[in-house]
Amino acid sequence: MARVHKVLIVGGGIGGLSLASGLRNRGIEVDLVEVKQEWTVYGVGIILQCNAIRAMAQLGLVDRILDAGYAYEGMGHYTAEGEFQRMLPGERAAGPEYPPNLGISRIALHQVLSSTAAEKGTAIRLGVTVEKLAQDPEGVSVMFTDGTQGRYDLVVGADGLYSKVRSMVFGKELKPRFTGQAVFRHNFPRPPELDHLAVYYGHHHNSGLCPLSKDLMYMFVTSSEPGNPRVPEDQLAELMRDRLKEFGGLIGQLREQITDPKQVVYKPMEVIFVPESWYRGRVVLIGDAAHAMTPHISQGAGMAVEDAVVLSELLAEDAPVGALLSRFMQRRYERCKFIVESAIQIGEWEMQGASHADRSGVVKKMLEVIAQPI
Ligand SMILES: Cc1cc2nc3c(=O)[nH]c(=O)nc-3n(C[C@H](O)[C@H](O)[C@H](O)COP(=O)(O)OP(=O)(O)OC[C@H]3O[C@@H](n4cnc5c(N)ncnc54)[C@H](O)[C@@H]3O)c2cc1C
Repeated sequence: MARVHKVLIVGGGIGGLSLASGLRNRGIEVDLVEVKQEWTVYGVGIILQCNAIRAMAQLGLVDRILDAGYAYEGMGHYTAEGEFQRMLPGERAAGPEYPPNLGISRIALHQVLSSTAAEKGTAIRLGVTVEKLAQDPEGVSVMFTDGTQGRYDLVVGADGLYSKVRSMVFGKELKPRFTGQAVFRHNFPRPPELDHLAVYYGHHHNSGLCPLSKDLMYMFVTSSEPGNPRVPEDQLAELMRDRLKEFGGLIGQLREQITDPKQVVYKPMEVIFVPESWYRGRVVLIGDAAHAMTPHISQGAGMAVEDAVVLSELLAEDAPVGALLSRFMQRRYERCKFIVESAIQIGEWEMQGASHADRSGVVKKMLEVIAQPI
């Protein structure tokens, strides 16, 4: 019989919502608080690779996720001029019946994750977060920002890059670091030939197109942005076009259609890796709160969902919480560290314009690692 009966999840993003479903599948009571009053996510897309699809299958979410996105086989490499070079096929780690990759709009992913967590009986509160945490050997007493209180067997900080739970429990010294790069993104109607992830390698920037649905795809371009400048919102379209100026072919054609700054999503790349156990007593971090990476290998969400699978599986076991969290670390720490470091390495090579860099080698190794069971 499980010894963990009631869990508080702080943060209703990809990791927190996946965990809520995983815990409810095992009959564990779940409260989830999300700081945003209006629970919106930005409207571009995200790539879920084979390990994320497998994790969604383990959580019982895969059919709804697949219905909401666009399944594709592999990643095509192209020159900046749009000339095809080679195709890197994905792994079918989730089983032969599932695709190796899925592009999905973040809005569609959020709708599936939030509606499923709610249907399974998660008690979700919006516009609320933790004010105070006090733990003793038997549990954690929590005071919320709306003045209410609760008592839990475990508190999970799934509150992202700037995690409040992390700073409350691990101290304010652990802060995200800007890597020197940023990403611009924009949605477009999907042409029929764009039925895979297409990545275009330029001399200064890398761009890509990812299908999200029958009708939609998104474009991204990574760029060096020394000093993390404040980017005026009304200049986003102009800046994205500028970062794309070396590209021809399809990217060059689409570039000219980027005119509305409101349609451009800009994100500086920030990373953090908590370099020790991600738990203290009965408070544990998952997802970006513990290990936020750059998007170069499309694995941040994948790792967050894997955290959710492993933690929900362990918490159903009959063992002391400390022993379960220690096993959680054994299964997650090295794997996430490898993935975070691989993503950061690719970004550093991009910034150095390193022609010797073995980007494909890192991606191939990453694909081998993520296909292994967790
Ligand atoms: C440009 C870019 C592209 C990316 N592309 C990919 C990709 O293609 N594939 C991939 O796998 N990953 C990708 N990622 C990474 C992925 O988005 C993250 O790793 C993932 O969202 C992490 O999930 P999370 O639940 O830990 O955090 P989040 O999704 O950030 O969720 C955190 C939630 O906590 C809430 N919150 C914050 N503070 C509090 C608080 N104090 N109290 C309560 N709630 C709070 C937030 O509002 C949010 O809802 C990308 C990231 C970036 C920046």
